[in-house]
Amino acid sequence: MIKRIGLCALALVACILSIQAQTQVIAHRGFWKTEGSAQNSITALEKAAEAKLYGSEFDVLMTVDGKMVVNHDNTIEGMIIPETSYKQLKKLKIKNGEKLPTLKNYLKRGKKLDIQLILEAKPLPTKEMEDQAIATIVKMVKKMGLEKQVEYISFSLNMCEQLAKLTPESEIAYLNGNIAPAELKKKGINGIDYHKSVILNKHPEWVKEAHDLDMKVNVWTVNNESEMRKLIDMKVDYITTDQPLETKALLP
Ligand code: MG
Repeated sequence: MIKRIGLCALALVACILSIQAQTQVIAHRGFWKTEGSAQNSITALEKAAEAKLYGSEFDVLMTVDGKMVVNHDNTIEGMIIPETSYKQLKKLKIKNGEKLPTLKNYLKRGKKLDIQLILEAKPLPTKEMEDQAIATIVKMVKKMGLEKQVEYISFSLNMCEQLAKLTPESEIAYLNGNIAPAELKKKGINGIDYHKSVILNKHPEWVKEAHDLDMKVNVWTVNNESEMRKLIDMKVDYITTDQPLETKALLP
């Protein structure tokens, strides 16, 4: 009997390990290369969920009056978002005709979908603005009960550090590619999300280093099939791509 329980436990551990080892797909700025969609639109989030991906990535910026909006570029129709009030932006339309999404509306829609929400906090002009943005985002995510569904990424080390302070249980990954996993771990940052050239060419050893530290490895933006295959073989946790269906089709 004891032997049987032991075998079951071993099988369970093997099963968990094999689930962990499988690479999963994140749609870069949502699944936007499809009918009616656009980068960072709510439709792109819905299409990513329909495609049954692990996650949908999106970019978040703060207006000068502290409102969080979803957009990749710092500027929209000639206006610099961190220097513009929300009032001036709220009537703007994005490429598929949707209104420029607020973070609140984006998260509200995401909450009803079965997909991880990969929130990229965009760097802002000052540390004060960055700290305010992170405090606002974390408060909103907690209030909406989305702590498990939202994962954070940022090029700003300061923003990652603020996240580690305010929401240490969350998945937090640094994007800038220039810091070894062990250094990030010391700061409470529990993932790397690095450009494909860093993982494929400069520091392939960082995959093992991260995994040994129980950190996640995400790689962007991978749209080339042979690179996808290499990264799947390297057992990275996530591939962030503009070609989510093609990536998914390559998974074992
Ligand atoms: Mg992004």
